[in-house]
Amino acid sequence: MSQLDSLLAEVRACRACADLLPLGPRPLLQVSATARILIASQAPGTKGHESGIPFDDASGERLRDWMGLTNAQFYDARHVAIVPMGLCYPGRLRGGGDAPPRPECAPLWRQRLLDQMPELRLTLLVGGYAQQYVLGPGKMTDRVAYFRNHLPALFPLPHPSWRTRAWASRNPWFEADLLPALKLAVRDACR
Ligand code: SF4
Repeated sequence: MSQLDSLLAEVRACRACADLLPLGPRPLLQVSATARILIASQAPGTKGHESGIPFDDASGERLRDWMGLTNAQFYDARHVAIVPMGLCYPGRLRGGGDAPPRPECAPLWRQRLLDQMPELRLTLLVGGYAQQYVLGPGKMTDRVAYFRNHLPALFPLPHPSWRTRAWASRNPWFEADLLPALKLAVRDACR
C-alpha cells in the first residue's frame, strides 16, 4: 500500500468531529500523487454526502464551466485533486445556508494530503474559507478581483453557488477578465 493509500484509509476512518456532524462522517475528496490542480473548496453539500461524489450538484456544474473542463476531465484524479477545508458535510446554519467547514478538519488532514501530491502546480481557493485558511483575513471580492497577484500557484475564486450569479452581475470583470484567465491557467497546469 502506498503512503497516499494508507493516508486515505486514515482519512476515511476519521471520526474526529463525528458528534458534531448531523449526517455523520463521510469524508469526500479526490487525490492522487500525479494531480496538477488542487480544488481547495469549502465542504461537501447534502447531495455530495449522499452520492459520495464531490461537486455532484449545480455548484459543481458551474465550477466545471468556469474551469473549462468536462465531467470526465474534472473527475480524473490523475490531474485534478479536490480537498475541501472540511471533508464532511457540516450541516446547516440556523438562518439558512450550509454551516462553515468543521475547523478541526484542515489542521488535521490538509498538509498531510498536500505532502502526498508533489506535482501540484495550481491551487484554486474556492470561497472565503479556503482563502482565509491559506491567505489569512481579507475580503473575498478584493482577492478575486486581484487574482493576478496570486498567480501562478494560487487562484482565488468565489464559491460557485447560485448566489454567485448576482455577485457576478455586480462584478462584470469576473466573466470578462477572470474566467478566460482561469481557463488558461487550468490548461497550462495540465500540460
Ligand atoms: S469533517 Fe474532517 S475532522 Fe471531522 S470527521 Fe470528517 S474528516 Fe474527520
